[in-house]
Amino acid sequence: MEAPGAAQADEPGLSRNKERRSVGTHWREHMETLLSLQKHLPPFAFDLIRLTNGLILLLVLFVPFEHLFALRRSQKVLRKGFGTDLGYYFLSSMLPNRVLAVPLAALALGLQRMGSESLQLWVGDFPVWLRFAAAMVVAEIGFYWGHRWMHQSDLLWRFHSIHHSATEMDWLVNTRAHPVDLVFTRLCGYIPMYALGLAHSVGGGVDWIPLVVALTGSIWGYFIHSNTRVRLGWLEHAIATPMFHHWHHNHEEAMDAADDGAAHRHGNYAPTMPWVDRLFGTLHSGAGQWPKAYGIDEPTESGLAGQLLQPFLPDRKSAVVRDPE
Ligand SMILES: [Zn+2]
Ligand SMILES: [Zn+2]
Repeated sequence: MEAPGAAQADEPGLSRNKERRSVGTHWREHMETLLSLQKHLPPFAFDLIRLTNGLILLLVLFVPFEHLFALRRSQKVLRKGFGTDLGYYFLSSMLPNRVLAVPLAALALGLQRMGSESLQLWVGDFPVWLRFAAAMVVAEIGFYWGHRWMHQSDLLWRFHSIHHSATEMDWLVNTRAHPVDLVFTRLCGYIPMYALGLAHSVGGGVDWIPLVVALTGSIWGYFIHSNTRVRLGWLEHAIATPMFHHWHHNHEEAMDAADDGAAHRHGNYAPTMPWVDRLFGTLHSGAGQWPKAYGIDEPTESGLAGQLLQPFLPDRKSAVVRDPE
């Protein structure tokens, strides 16, 4: 009698195991297909597949998230400029991997060699959690200054103003960055991280610290641009929220608290840690209110090709189409 009962009791477990096996098999097959694609497809085509997968994941995460916690409910998912920003998504994700990987690795190696060896040895003895925490803070301060310089310099602003041309905020606005803007700001974060020996460019395989720093910044970038009213209470002193970064996109008017000498003052330059803005005197809290409008007064081309070229061309305000978003 016991045996059939035991068999019956085992059945749901067996079917769960079968399910687990089939999910495991399915996942393994998916990974094998991806690996074989990576071997046989040209790098460009493989990037397209990988990035399309990433985009689907972002859509699945952020479209319902923005629907549930919408800040501006009337804003459409397929707003004007959505297609242009999708173009930036692919461009910005491929450019660092395919065009900049070798020069950046060379730069990182050079910085490591130029940096103080005793300092790097000392830092190298840090427990890994401390090295990671220090890398996050050092990169954050580098990103902060790179971003602030983008606002202070008229030349750099020509590139960064493209990001500020968005008049509606959502997760995908995160991708709208001219490649020069992207590379300059990233270098400002990575150079001190490598120079201090907090990240390594060679030896012992891939160093996960710069990868996790980049991934955290990227995911948080989508969150702080999103059209959501999510607040984090007391944690907002430490971690950036949509309200913090939406104020950075406030329609171009000098903000009282952002008296930082920047020609294009917006405050709230830090990508993930608002206390860095507090430290350097550029924090703008918005007193718990949301900005009424986003964007800049300067005319901006409306398509991807026009926006990529715009910073290199002389100002021809009469010929430039105002971004209609
Ligand atoms: Zn900015
Ligand atoms: Zn932004």
